[in-house]
Amino acid sequence: MTLVRRHPMALALLALVLLSALQPLPALVDAATGAPPADADLVRPTAYTALAPLSNVLDALTFLSLGRAWALLIEWALALAAWGALRRGTLRQRLGRALFGPLALAALGGAALMLPRPVPRLVTADSSLTVIDYHAHTDASHDGRPGWTAEDLAAWHEAQGFAASYVTDHNVVFRRPIEHPIRLLPGVEWSVYREHILALGPVRPIDRARYNRDARALGALFAELHHQGALGVASLPEYWLNGWDDLEGFVADSVDGFEIVNCAPKALAFSTARRGAVAQLAAARDLLVVGASDNHGWGKVTCAWNLSSPSAHGYAANHVLARSIALAQGDWEPWTAAYTQPWLMLRSLSSSERSSWVTWILVILIYRAVPRRAGDPGGIGILARSLEMFRVRGPRA
Ligand SMILES: [Zn+2]
Repeated sequence: MTLVRRHPMALALLALVLLSALQPLPALVDAATGAPPADADLVRPTAYTALAPLSNVLDALTFLSLGRAWALLIEWALALAAWGALRRGTLRQRLGRALFGPLALAALGGAALMLPRPVPRLVTADSSLTVIDYHAHTDASHDGRPGWTAEDLAAWHEAQGFAASYVTDHNVVFRRPIEHPIRLLPGVEWSVYREHILALGPVRPIDRARYNRDARALGALFAELHHQGALGVASLPEYWLNGWDDLEGFVADSVDGFEIVNCAPKALAFSTARRGAVAQLAAARDLLVVGASDNHGWGKVTCAWNLSSPSAHGYAANHVLARSIALAQGDWEPWTAAYTQPWLMLRSLSSSERSSWVTWILVILIYRAVPRRAGDPGGIGILARSLEMFRVRGPRA
């Protein structure tokens, strides 16, 4: 009881980590069906799992829609500031504590964007499938991270299990032959009349003004791309925000497919219901559905991978796999992010990640709970002594 009174936060967290296992979410799902994939798995490096509380929190911060990211940061910053200010102490101590929480939160946000760290990797058992990304940027894009080269992009993809990626900078054709560490394929992301269209394959520059006048003019772009030998895929969030009422118009204009997952914060608010509607349309018209990291050089993890079968065409040619938390969070109102994002994160833990969380909480709890002898400095010595208490006593020699 004393333990509960003295360490309510740690014990509440422990309870949540254990309770969330009763409502588990698979870490990875097929984005079109919502079911766990049969032919692929998410492999977490040992260091990722050993540091699971940090790894999972940074991933969960990466997979937030823009609205939810703002809501979560503001709500948590206010709560931490209030908690710091209301604790007992001198005015100076309370001010310091009130500032510390929000600053630590900002540091976590920065770490999600930039901290080098171990990342999960997609592994497929089927060697006929290629793990591929259809949409990613370098610093040739106006909004790419400065200094983010094609080589950096290839290394980022390789760490996460990709064998290939199209490079689709904004209105800048990519055609450099890069084979290592993964294959980078030629492409471009054309901004034309309120839409972003991925052009994939042997692309050439176009006269964008010709396709910029209105939706009718834009429709002619697909014939031009096909003439070049390239595919044209409608990108998120633009076709959802600006063209949702006329998806059939895209189909009539010979679009080759639709993104159904895009990991950019602007696109992560796309709901499961809308994704289902697009997948259904694509299946009926035998069009591609694709997932996109839409990486711009920020963040260490992708929320989506594709399993591409070179022998198939249309809808069957590609399967989109995604982190379940990234898809599920898009169904929640932004203002709920402060509690729904942590809960989705805990629900999607693997058993080894959950064990790691429990171990970290217990180690810190023991460290904090063992009374210090008068005059003892805090430190590892206390932890060692507390672990001593838990040691199984063997027969004495
Ligand atoms: Zn993009």
